[in-house]
Amino acid sequence: MPKQELQWNLNDIIARGKFDDFARSFEKNVLKLGDYFKALSPAMSEESFRRMMSFTEKLKEDANRLGSYGSLWMSVDINSQDAMLYKSRAQDLMVSHTQALIPITQWLMGKPVEGLRRLDDANAQRLFQAVPDLKYVLSYQRRGAVHTLDQDVEKVMARKKVTGADPLNELYNLVSDGFEYRFKPQGKKEKVFKTQSQVRAYFYSSDQAERQAAYQALFKPYQDNISKFYVIYQALAKDWDQDAKDRNFVSPMAMRNFYNQVPDKAIETLLKVSADNSGIYQEYFRLKARLLGVKKLRRYDIYAPLEKQKASLPFDRAKALVLETFKEFSPGLARNARQIFEAGHIDTHPRTGKEAGAFCAMITPKTTPYILLNYSGDNSSVMTMAHELGHGAHNLYASAHSASSAETTLPLAETASTTAEMLMFERLLSQTRSDREKRAMLLEKIGDSYATVMRQAYFVKFEMAAHQMLLQGAKESQLSDLYLKMLKEQFGSSLDVADEFRYEWAYIAHIFKTPFYCYAYNFGELLSMALYARYKKEGRSFVPKIENILSYGGSQSPELILKQVGIDMCSASFWQGSYDVVRGWLEELKRLSK
Ligand SMILES: [Zn+2]
Repeated sequence: MPKQELQWNLNDIIARGKFDDFARSFEKNVLKLGDYFKALSPAMSEESFRRMMSFTEKLKEDANRLGSYGSLWMSVDINSQDAMLYKSRAQDLMVSHTQALIPITQWLMGKPVEGLRRLDDANAQRLFQAVPDLKYVLSYQRRGAVHTLDQDVEKVMARKKVTGADPLNELYNLVSDGFEYRFKPQGKKEKVFKTQSQVRAYFYSSDQAERQAAYQALFKPYQDNISKFYVIYQALAKDWDQDAKDRNFVSPMAMRNFYNQVPDKAIETLLKVSADNSGIYQEYFRLKARLLGVKKLRRYDIYAPLEKQKASLPFDRAKALVLETFKEFSPGLARNARQIFEAGHIDTHPRTGKEAGAFCAMITPKTTPYILLNYSGDNSSVMTMAHELGHGAHNLYASAHSASSAETTLPLAETASTTAEMLMFERLLSQTRSDREKRAMLLEKIGDSYATVMRQAYFVKFEMAAHQMLLQGAKESQLSDLYLKMLKEQFGSSLDVADEFRYEWAYIAHIFKTPFYCYAYNFGELLSMALYARYKKEGRSFVPKIENILSYGGSQSPELILKQVGIDMCSASFWQGSYDVVRGWLEELKRLSK
């Protein structure tokens, strides 16, 4: 059977054979930034400000073209020497671009810059007004000024990062990169794995001894090296907390929230509502135990498979099904998704040298986005196709903006993708004739939502408590106790949690490298699910509201965008809506499991 494979063509980013010309003209334009810099003045005319902004925005688009050309190429051909060369040349060019922009950005933020008069608030207002589409982005950047320190101190901060946090993070990698994982299921021969993904594959094994052995193999080296991880973690956590204090943030968490453009209150509410809903997943684990025919699930078993999916959908039929499902929701969504196929900007099937997984890359607002898939024909790869096409369609909804304002802010980044994925999930579920298959789909979906939603929320809850405790001089054993305690809170009596899970925190790289970031995963997902829940309740009339949200891109604050469609992201009832969706799936699963 033909594979119906599509491979993307990158000529719309930079025409074939034109990379050198493009790079040369980019370099010239970066130099021109110097002229624009000299012309900066609080008294400058709105017209010259507009001209400068349109120049810097165009340059940003070109930088994105340069940056994505080699790296997209490499993602489908990891060994291509040409791609590697283009990628590294682009990196150098982009560094010079970023550096040339720094003094301009600093000036826009209202910071003192040598050779220029400071941009005061009134003139900033006046000038930003002249570029309405960029007004929010520029103002938000300017708000960041209160969290920026004097230039001399910033220099020390930058150096401290290079000699402090960066090497600590590298050390984290060095320690864990050398690990060997000794996988020894009861009654079987030992295997030694070099990579975590080999071990993690056994989380999904149908053999319970293998699942147990996988977790034990994974955590053992972390346990053996736990004092090293403790030393690294406590230094990174304190460094983050001290920076937050020096930068005038009300809490360590507030620094992360500011970068993510979310109000503190929204995150507090999200975490609270999440903890209140941990019962849904506990009930799910109890039900899963029954379906697997065991009295109680162990933590080892939460991803245990119940049924293997047999059906496989040829790519063309999956594509048609996705587009049809989109069209029923909105013709606009289908049109945007179709545009990506028509432009030849999608790479659909796995092949040697191609990166695993899936993503959507936005290049410039006027370029049709690029999508990479590894389509395999199962349900989850159909949903992934819908998810990535959702991202792509989102970019196209926002294509009227300029480079800096088109890109969606983090809280809304998953709106179209999650909506698309949900539409697809419900469609596939309704098409499935056998109850057994339906049950397997729901089981997998709730399991996935546990991993992206509840699990991440509890990482952040752990981090908040851990940072606090470290300031009071907590030891490693106290951190590990805390971690285990939080797992027990999360699972209640629905699971048995073995003692080695106390070392799991050391395995979560994100809590070392990007403190408090993990909520970003569940934030986007839950927000989109809550919107979807509103759509289910209000029906067609809610579709234009979702499309309106999408067309904003990143040109307005996420809070304000949502307010315009009557949503308050700081309200508990809004977040509850998304858990009600999961609750609905659970009720359906219970009905099918009677
Ligand atoms: Zn996504």
